Amino acid sequence: MKVLKFGGKSLSNEGISKVIDIIESKIDNGDRITVVVSARGNATNELESILQKASSSEVYQEQLEAFKLSQRQITPLLDFNPEFNKLEKLLEGVSLLEDFSTKVKDEVLAQGELIAIKTVTELLQQRGINANATDARLLLKTDESFGNAQPIEGVSKENIVNYYKKHNGTTVNVVSGFIGSNLKNETTTLGRNGSNYTASLLANYLDADELQNYTHVDGIFTANPDLVSDAKKIEELSFSEANELANFGANILHAKTIIPLIEKNINLRILNTFNQKDEGTLITAKSSAKGIKSISVLDNVALLNFEGRGLLGKVGVDARIFKSLGSHDISVSIISQGSSERGIGLVVDKEKAELAVKALKHEFEYDLKTKDVNHISIVNDVAVISIIGQDLSEFHLPYNALIQNQIVPLLFNNTITGKNVSLVVKKEELHKAVNVIHGQIFGVAKKINIAVFGKGLVGGTLIEQIIKSTPAILDRRKIQLNIFAVANSKKVLLSQHGIDENWQAKLNESSIESSVDEVIDFAKAHHLENLIAVDNTANQDFIENYIPLVENGFDLVSSNKIANTVSHSFYKKLRQVLENNKKTYLYETNVGAGLPLIDTIKLLHDSGENITRIRGVFSGSLSFIFNKYSEENVPFATVLKEAIENGYTEPDPREDLCGNDVARKLLILARELDLENEFEDIHIENLIPEEFRDSSAAEFIDNCDKLNDHFNKIKDGQEENHVLRYIGDLHGDLQQTKGNLDVKLVSVPENTPLGSLKGSDAIFEIYTESYGNQPIVIQGAGAGAEVTARGVFGDILRLTKK
Ligand code: ASP
Ligand code: MG
Repeated sequence: MKVLKFGGKSLSNEGISKVIDIIESKIDNGDRITVVVSARGNATNELESILQKASSSEVYQEQLEAFKLSQRQITPLLDFNPEFNKLEKLLEGVSLLEDFSTKVKDEVLAQGELIAIKTVTELLQQRGINANATDARLLLKTDESFGNAQPIEGVSKENIVNYYKKHNGTTVNVVSGFIGSNLKNETTTLGRNGSNYTASLLANYLDADELQNYTHVDGIFTANPDLVSDAKKIEELSFSEANELANFGANILHAKTIIPLIEKNINLRILNTFNQKDEGTLITAKSSAKGIKSISVLDNVALLNFEGRGLLGKVGVDARIFKSLGSHDISVSIISQGSSERGIGLVVDKEKAELAVKALKHEFEYDLKTKDVNHISIVNDVAVISIIGQDLSEFHLPYNALIQNQIVPLLFNNTITGKNVSLVVKKEELHKAVNVIHGQIFGVAKKINIAVFGKGLVGGTLIEQIIKSTPAILDRRKIQLNIFAVANSKKVLLSQHGIDENWQAKLNESSIESSVDEVIDFAKAHHLENLIAVDNTANQDFIENYIPLVENGFDLVSSNKIANTVSHSFYKKLRQVLENNKKTYLYETNVGAGLPLIDTIKLLHDSGENITRIRGVFSGSLSFIFNKYSEENVPFATVLKEAIENGYTEPDPREDLCGNDVARKLLILARELDLENEFEDIHIENLIPEEFRDSSAAEFIDNCDKLNDHFNKIKDGQEENHVLRYIGDLHGDLQQTKGNLDVKLVSVPENTPLGSLKGSDAIFEIYTESYGNQPIVIQGAGAGAEVTARGVFGDILRLTKK
C-alpha cells in the first residue's frame, strides 16, 4: 500500500485535475493506494482570516461568499451545505461574542479538509473510481490540545486498521488530513501543515511501502531555486539529514512527521503534482556518508535589538524576555547574546515584532527608567539564512566569501548538536548572500562577474581570450567567468548571464549610453557577486570611477597606467578606499606587459628584501629602435620608420620618444617600494628635438631625417664595444621617502644583460641587498596586445583565488 498526500496548491482549482490524473494512473497501474488531502488552495488561511474578521466585528460575509464560490467552482453540483452552514453558524457566534476559543477555531478550519475530501471523492467517482470520502475525525483520536493536538496511538491505530479492513480492495479512501477528534468527539487539529503528519501516521499504522508527498515543487533543493539559479535538487537523503532541514521552511519534514516513518522504515518521496516526470527527492533511513548541505531562508522575520549596559551579571534577564514574549505567543527563532550580556539579538516573526517590542518595553519598564536597559528596537527587513549541514570548523569559507562581497552579517549563531549555522542579513542583501554562500559551499562554480571598460586592442583581445578559456577554467578550477558588462566610450552592453561571441555586434546595437553608474546599478539590481572591473581604456578621466567602483564592491584590474601615475595623494587615497572595502587592485601589465614584474617586486619588498635599484629598458618600441640602431650601420630615421611601419610605436612615435611612458612605468615601480615620488620629480631625457615638439605627427615623421646627425654623434662618441639603450633608472637611497628617477639614453658595454638585449624585448634589473651586485633580471616581450591581454587575464585569475 502507498499513501499519497496532496497539498493545498496541488488541490487548488488550477491543480486538482492533475491530482485526479495521478490517482487514476496509479489505479490503472494496479497500485494499492490511499489518499490524504489537505484543504484546497489557500483555504486554511482564508478561514483563519475570516474568523479573525468575525471576531473583531468586521464584515466577513463577503470574504466567506468568495471562499464558498471558489471551493464550489470545480464541483458546482456537489452539496456543501453541511460545511457551509456549519461555518455560518460558527462565525455568527464568534461575531456576537467578538471572541473565539481554540476549539471553535479548530472546528472552523476543519471545514477546509472536509470540503476537500468531498471534492476529490466526487471527481474520482466521475471517472469511475471507487472512492470513499473518509472523515479522519472518526478514526484519529487525539488529546484535547486544540490547535496542536497529539494523536492517541492505541485507539487511533486500531480504528484505522479496522476501517481499512472494511474499506479495502478497490476502494480508494480519501482521508482528511490535519484533523482529528478528542475522546469527547470534539474536532481537533494537529497544527498547521498537519496533513503531512496525518499521512505519515496513516503510513505507519497501515505499514505502507512508501509515502508519496505531492507538492508544487520538484523536491528538496540545495537552496530555493527562485533565489539561486544554480540550486540543485537533492535526489536522495536520509531522515536524519532531513530532520536538519525541517525547521527551516521544509514543513513536510517536520520531526513530528518524520518519526512515524523512521519507526517503520518507510520511504518518503517528495513529488511535484505539476511535473510528474520528475522523480522527486527520496528520503530513506540510509544515511549517506558525505552528509548533505542545504541552504534555507526565512525572510518574514525581524531582528529585535535589546541593549542594556546595566545587564551585566544580572540574573534572569533572558528568563524575563522569554516569559514576556511567551505570554504573547511570540516565538523566538534565534537568540544571540554576547558574553558581556550587554546586547541581545532576537529573531521573531515580522508580524509579531511590534508586539514583541511592546511586551518587552512593558516587562523592562523599570529597567528602562533606571537606564539598565538602554533601548529595545526592531531592525526590520532582515532575513535568516541557515546553512544546514554546515560545520563551524569550515564556516570561515562561506563567511569569508560574504565579506569579500561586502555582506556583513548582522548576527550569526550555530547549534551545538547537528550541523547548522544561521546568519541574519539585511533583506536587501539576501539574494546575493544566498548565492555567494551557495556557490561557496557547493563549489558548483564560483561565479566571477566581470565588467570590461575599453574594448580597443587590449580590451577586445582580453574579451576573446576570456570567452575562449571560460569552459576550461570552469572545468579545471570550478570558476565561472561571466562578463556581464562591456563598455566603450559611447555605449555599454549589459548581460546578466554573460556576453557571447557576438558581443561586438550586440554592443553596437545597444541603446544604453556608456556609464559606470549604469554598470554598478545593473550589478546591484541583479545581485551579482564577486565583481571585477577591468580598465583597458587609456583614458585620463576614467580613473575617477575607480573609487565608486570599489565602494560598490568591485575589485579592480587595469592595464591603464593613469591611476598609478597621477598625484601621490590620489594613489594613497585609492589604496585607503581599497583597504576600507577589502578590495584589491591589480595592474601587472602597467609595466612590462605580461612579464611577472610587479608581482615579483611586491613579493621582494613585502618580504623585507631591500631593493636598492631598478634599472632597465621598459619600452618595447625604444628597445627595438636602439637595439637595431646600435647593431647596424643605418641612419636613425631608417630604423625609426621601420619601427613605425611595424606598429612597434604609437601612431605618433613622439609619444614613445618623449620618454613619458618610460617615466610612468618607472614611477609605478618606485611607488611599489613605498616611495612617494611625483611624476614631476622624474628627470626625463626627451628624445624629440625642440623644433618638432609642437608640430603635427605627419610633419614630424616626414622630417625625421633631421634626427640623424644628433644620434650619429652620440653613437660615434661611445667607448669601444658599447651600445645605446634608453633606460629607466631608479636609484639613490630608497629608504627615504623619495628616490631618484632618471629616464635617459645611456651607453653600456655590449656584453652585459642590458647591452645584449635583442628585438623589442624589455629588460628589468632588480638590485637588492642580499643579491648584491648580481641583479635579478626579468626579460621578455614587454609589449603587444596579446601579451598585455594575457597579463590582464592573469590578474583576473589572481583575484579569483582570493
Ligand atoms: N490545511 C492545513 C494547513 O494549511 C493543513 C495542511 O495543509 O497540511 O495548515
Ligand atoms: Mg498546506
